[in-house]
Amino acid sequence: MIDARVAALAGEYARALRPEIETLFRQQWADPELPGMEVRAAARLANWLAGHGFAVEKGAGGLPTAFVARSGPGGGPVAALLAEYDALPGLDNEAAPVRKSLGLAAGHGCGHNHIGPANAGAAVVAALVCRELGIGGEIRVIGCPAEEILWGKIALFRAGVFAGIDAILTSHGDYQTGALSRPCQAVVSGEFVYASESGHGGQTGQRNALLVAEEAVSAAIRAIETDYPGVLLRHVLRKAGVMPSIMPSETRLWFTTRGFDYERTRGAYEAIARLASDAARHGGVSCRHQFISESRGYLPNDTLGRLLFAAMRAAGGPQWTEADLAFMRALCHACAPEEQMEIDSEIRYFDSGEDYYGQDDGEVSWRIPLGRVNWAYPKQVPIHHWAWTALSGHPAGSPGPLAAAQALAMATVTLLGAPALIVDAQLELRRRVAGIGLTQPRLGALATMTQAPESFWAASWVE
Ligand SMILES: [Zn+2]
Repeated sequence: MIDARVAALAGEYARALRPEIETLFRQQWADPELPGMEVRAAARLANWLAGHGFAVEKGAGGLPTAFVARSGPGGGPVAALLAEYDALPGLDNEAAPVRKSLGLAAGHGCGHNHIGPANAGAAVVAALVCRELGIGGEIRVIGCPAEEILWGKIALFRAGVFAGIDAILTSHGDYQTGALSRPCQAVVSGEFVYASESGHGGQTGQRNALLVAEEAVSAAIRAIETDYPGVLLRHVLRKAGVMPSIMPSETRLWFTTRGFDYERTRGAYEAIARLASDAARHGGVSCRHQFISESRGYLPNDTLGRLLFAAMRAAGGPQWTEADLAFMRALCHACAPEEQMEIDSEIRYFDSGEDYYGQDDGEVSWRIPLGRVNWAYPKQVPIHHWAWTALSGHPAGSPGPLAAAQALAMATVTLLGAPALIVDAQLELRRRVAGIGLTQPRLGALATMTQAPESFWAASWVE
């Protein structure tokens, strides 16, 4: 499926660009920014692409930290790669096998310091190979902010930024190496703000916003268990109170529902929203519902999955050095001292079962065929955890995304050189969505995320 000449050229260019890509891995990691606030991370990638001849549009779709970068003569198919670059609050850590904060607001506990440069790197490699082989069409990199709250691609989609794209390829670190054609979770997310009068905790008869939020949580857990088995409910109290003798005046409760059945996951969220406002009524406090986003889970696509599987095999899996393995062993020991390190180094095709995560590209995958490769980290290193941040900042984290970059480049060139494959992928998508009424995904926090994203992270946003 992957032409030997394409594989050889992509390998050559990827090797030549490797120092630049690895520099970007390190720079993105050392300067983590919260979702919606990735000003420097987005600029770093956009400027790097511009330096390699891409025409860059910053602030795409009206989102300050989004961009679109284009390369190629056009006039043929458009293949896009997704760049992500946001980091997670509270997960900042040194690149060491021990919990030690650097004092930063965020950390790359999901490895998006790798995804942006690896996928942008794939685009640059693919553009060079296409030019050399005289392959037309266009390669587009979509710079996607705020993936971690499953928000950015929903906003970009609604703004029309994905229009005209024929196929999308992307990558992520995980516990498996290879290509995927199986669903991940749908996610619906929103915040409930309970407010009442503050006052001295010794007085009686006061309204307590925190107590109401806690009651809403208990009611929601019971309702999901009884009425929505299979749907997961997750919540945090982002703002609870200050001290027991000051009655909390505002409490913020962030709920997400997650599941493989989109309609049920949505239905569960609606049920919880009703319970959340019922709790406010009973407790005599006000409740404001601030919706954040909703995204379908990934729609599998075997046409792209098989292509990416072939490309991963042609590129070869991650090549860890002894020093890389020693670091990962130390990290595993810190996370799971009783266990031996397990790391999946075999390249496989995953087309049965499900993946546990949600991604905002899931929504897009129902409109445009989308394929993803994964590279593995040790099973003992939890994702969305300080240890993943540590690994993402260490050279041991790099062989996976470097292999993915090479595979994505080969697959991109193959698609542009054989538009019939894109047609197949689109026909497959149409077969899979036949009979499903796709509606515009709902989105909240648009003014907040575009004008004052810091207020989102300070839990003070109002919409
Ligand atoms: Zn991620």
